[in-house]
Amino acid sequence: MTLYLNGHTYKYELEHLIKMFFPLIKLGIVYNETEGDGGAVVTTLTEEDEEYRLTVTVRYEGETISRMETVSRNRTDCSAECERVFGVLIYELLESLTGTSPKWGILTGIRPVKLVSARLENGEPDERIVQEFERDYKVKPQKTKLLLETAKVERSVVSRRAENDFSLYIAIPFCPTRCQYCSFVSHSVEQAKKLIPDYLLTLRHEIRETGKIAAELGLKLKTVYFGGGTPTVLRAEQLAELFDEVRECFDLSNCVEYTVEAGRADTITAKKLAAIQNAGATRISINPQSFEDDVLEEIGRKHTAAQVIDCYHMARELGFDNINMDFIAGLKGDTLDGFKRTMETALALEPENITVHTLSVKRSSSLYQDAESLRMIRDNPTSAMVDYSQQVLEAAGYHPYYLYRQKNTLQNLENVGFCKPGYEGIYNIYIMEELQTILALGAGAVTKLVDQGSGLIERVFNYKFPYEYIGQFDEMLRRKEQVRTFYERKRLCADGAL
Ligand code: SF4
Repeated sequence: MTLYLNGHTYKYELEHLIKMFFPLIKLGIVYNETEGDGGAVVTTLTEEDEEYRLTVTVRYEGETISRMETVSRNRTDCSAECERVFGVLIYELLESLTGTSPKWGILTGIRPVKLVSARLENGEPDERIVQEFERDYKVKPQKTKLLLETAKVERSVVSRRAENDFSLYIAIPFCPTRCQYCSFVSHSVEQAKKLIPDYLLTLRHEIRETGKIAAELGLKLKTVYFGGGTPTVLRAEQLAELFDEVRECFDLSNCVEYTVEAGRADTITAKKLAAIQNAGATRISINPQSFEDDVLEEIGRKHTAAQVIDCYHMARELGFDNINMDFIAGLKGDTLDGFKRTMETALALEPENITVHTLSVKRSSSLYQDAESLRMIRDNPTSAMVDYSQQVLEAAGYHPYYLYRQKNTLQNLENVGFCKPGYEGIYNIYIMEELQTILALGAGAVTKLVDQGSGLIERVFNYKFPYEYIGQFDEMLRRKEQVRTFYERKRLCADGAL
């Protein structure tokens, strides 16, 4: 399939939109050229007096259909409008040719809640937002209602933030083995075991330096998040040393949430959970992904469902009263019935948070490589799984509190964090909605500096791989200076000096 762009450059959105209909297709992009053979989406923009004329022709499996719309050249937002209209034309033509109607319409962004939040801020009523999203973006009302519910919960939680608040993210990019669907830059312990001591030394150094910067700038730490990889791949003593370093370098007196991803059951022990508890962690994540043993085996998790349940009870006995469990809809080997059983088991355990992801098939993951897997992507019941999870979780008293989309998810579906009221994972909302500065440490971590007043966001990237992070730590420290510069400039602006 080829996407032809004639007279415009709206490549990014249109390319992603076409991939929603044909997730595995190799899409060629051609600018201002005559059409060749084969399947094609031909988009043409021409200027006619007071308006732009937008034409889309789709050629697919022997059929050819076209549509045309106009956009006034006098509109102040005419570029965005042309992009939207191209999107709607392509959506409608592909919908009629393929018989599929992606539920998120032409929205391709990863943070759709932001769109709804902005409209709620402007006082728009729910019904009008639902109608607008359906008419202008082809979003199914079911999805807009989910966005509205999520946005309202988010607003009630994040309205309590102050300008100098920040969160701390610490990355442990190591895992015991690699899950089949994973494209995250994590290193298996077998390969990277030797790097861990140096990685931890470097990380502790970065914790100390960042602690100094935060103290100098008067920033207040609100949430801490240890993520991965799998932090619990570390020994209990190693975990305790890291937690101690954080306690010594940061003022935790204003911290309202401290999460440690315990992640995989094959790494969790009572000793490690005790270390996490001694750190003052308020929230842990134990991630089953599925409670079907054959699915766990298929995806390369080296633990059983029973082991996860044992870990969960062990954490409860130790006193953890805020536990998240992650699940994935669309895993290879899973069925709708299997997924329903997984949800039933999860609900019986009553964790405070349940997060349901849609499988994202990245090019680098091993799952993407074999033909049978590719067929599975198209034919599996992921959408029914996602709908089922939302229905039973809401019926059991959980509400959605954060939502995001990833590229290449099965059937373009979403990831949603549900919780019992009062147990919203605040860090998850901050990171998804980009509402608060997150100082991120470790390999692959990305610091996000957020000016809440202007909405300006700057990013500081750490080196991706542990060996680079360790080997080029001076450069890491140099980059961290951007945090100082950002806040000093913000202060000067507030004082009227800039
Ligand atoms: S535990 Fe997570 S990060 Fe580690 S390999 Fe599995 S999916 Fe990837």
